[in-house]
Amino acid sequence: MFGIAKKEKPSIIFDFDDTLVYTNQIFDDIKNRFLWEMQNLGFADGHVLQVLNQFDIANVQKYGGFYKECFPFALGQTYEFYCIRQKVLIDEAKKQYFISLGETAYAITPKEVPQAKMVLSFLQKAGYPLFLLSKGDFQVQWARLKQVQMDSYFQVIKIVPQKTTAVFAEFCREQQINPHNAWSIGNSMKADINHALRIGMNGIHVPNPSWDYEEEEAIGDYLVADCLWDCIRFIEHTEKE
Ligand SMILES: [Mg+2]
Repeated sequence: MFGIAKKEKPSIIFDFDDTLVYTNQIFDDIKNRFLWEMQNLGFADGHVLQVLNQFDIANVQKYGGFYKECFPFALGQTYEFYCIRQKVLIDEAKKQYFISLGETAYAITPKEVPQAKMVLSFLQKAGYPLFLLSKGDFQVQWARLKQVQMDSYFQVIKIVPQKTTAVFAEFCREQQINPHNAWSIGNSMKADINHALRIGMNGIHVPNPSWDYEEEEAIGDYLVADCLWDCIRFIEHTEKE
């Protein structure tokens, strides 16, 4: 089922957000704060976060990727949407305040997923070529990598606005990675597993909570890790087969 060649150590391509560090929680905390403030403004219809999500997804699609403006803008747009719908005058200062609230997401240092550095260190010392393919805003992702001191574990770090099958294929070509002798490890079925499976890579899903945008059915066989340490077990076991 998993076509790992036995000669060379397989390459391992990690995802970053909600695979090695928790970022979803940062956004959820801000969303809850936003909801509370919107309720105080009289905009409590039970759908505020759904509307916010729709604007957020639309922004990602409009700008063509996960740029840092998408989420803060969505907060401002949601506020504006409710003002117009409820025929309330838009307070520009309030709108700017909500945009700034969204921007605070990028100033918070994310928490490390348990064992993340231990697992990276183990795999690095065991001689596995480690790579990071992270989706998001270039400056934000680099800053976070430095904050949590994970940048030194990877041979190559690539930050892309969007993960697609073509992005995985190009990355493997650039780094001379044989997809059949490589693993993709990530929390998103859509972004980390399905694209990898399409080019013949092996996938390990680390099911940490992620954003609605990421939900998708699996297109093939993959492994599920209860914790990051399981990844070592799976990779070493497959090598011995
Ligand atoms: Mg992720």
